Amino acid sequence: MLTRTGSGAALASPASFDVLARTVAGRRLIYLDSAATTLRPRPVVDAVCRYYTTNGANIHRGKHLLSEEASDQYERVRIQTAEFVGARSEEIVFVRNTTEALNMVAAGLDLNADDLVLGSLDAHHSNLLPWRVRSRLRLIPVRPDGGLDLAEFERALAEGPRVVALTACSNVTGVYSPLDGLIRLAKQAGAIVVVDAAQSLPHRREIFRAAGADFVAFSGHKMCGPTGVGVLCGRMSALERLRPVMLGGGTVDWVDTQGHRIRKVPHRFEYGTPDIAAVIGFGAALSYLDELGEREIREHDTVLANALLAECARRDTVRVIGPAPDGDHAGVVSMELPGFARLDEVARALSDSFGVMCRSGHMCAQPLVDGLAGGQVLRMSTYIYNSVTDVEEAFHCLDKVLEAL
Ligand code: PLP
Repeated sequence: MLTRTGSGAALASPASFDVLARTVAGRRLIYLDSAATTLRPRPVVDAVCRYYTTNGANIHRGKHLLSEEASDQYERVRIQTAEFVGARSEEIVFVRNTTEALNMVAAGLDLNADDLVLGSLDAHHSNLLPWRVRSRLRLIPVRPDGGLDLAEFERALAEGPRVVALTACSNVTGVYSPLDGLIRLAKQAGAIVVVDAAQSLPHRREIFRAAGADFVAFSGHKMCGPTGVGVLCGRMSALERLRPVMLGGGTVDWVDTQGHRIRKVPHRFEYGTPDIAAVIGFGAALSYLDELGEREIREHDTVLANALLAECARRDTVRVIGPAPDGDHAGVVSMELPGFARLDEVARALSDSFGVMCRSGHMCAQPLVDGLAGGQVLRMSTYIYNSVTDVEEAFHCLDKVLEAL
């Protein structure tokens, strides 16, 4: 099922990903949009189907066989997730996605409009808007190489922010933040630290073992899991202080005509019927990634990151947004194409004529893309099923598209 080579071949066998068997315009499909969402291997699809075909019951509600089986499976994935990231299982809250997790934290902290929140210019809209609507949000600038302006960060910390909302890896530049140091400084300044790990966790797990963020958010669908499941992982003390903003079935121990008692963490945050099948599928995704190996996934990311930047460096038709070749960056590259105003036409031609799926636009990080590029980029992003050959072929196709347009 798995291929293990250090040669730039795919790390995971593309044969496990049925979508990759598709052809477009008579060519094999090359998927380079994993920063948006990854593909799922067959064991994940099978786990989702198995839940619907053999169980299908709700969790935590009934005492019948099916409900208990489903609850057990769901809770086993909580333990598995905790082991995957190095947390305790009570610190894992299942949510829909990173966006929901960040909104839950921003709302549950009960910020005042004059509370200072430090964010970064490379934030995804999901780690910017929940703060902006509730507080005084200051975005720390990003240097042209995609790194945070550290001097400005330290100056802003001196003003006593209530929250520091970090981005572990930009979904535009692919640059990894030096999280350990940033978290340590933010904690010394007395801030609550929230980390958007949506782009980093698919490749690197160590952020949970690092200096101790209060809250970390990520999405299952960016790491081979189904859509509809994400995780808010928090330190127990931080979760206990967070107000649950959505209440209802599943969140309370009892309700009478006068009052109610909310359940312990993490259940108080899991309102209503969750996407049970997605959580179960996420468990299969974690097993799949475990089997590939933490170090191997990390190294493969670096191999593909270097391949992307090497292809860019060979061409004067593209201008890379952000990372220096010797920097710490993921297999995500965003480019401007000087002379081409309609990048969505380029992405469309790559897709429809060559079977290369990549993304154009502002990547839901408009302040950064406006600041470092002209409001739009063409992004290629990779994952475990990609090879260096995929990257080389995609750039070869890009050359042809640019010649033709
Ligand atoms: N944060 C980053 C860095 C992202 O790249 C994304 C999605 O692209 C998100 C947050 C939002 O993730 P989701 O759509 O799963 O909520």
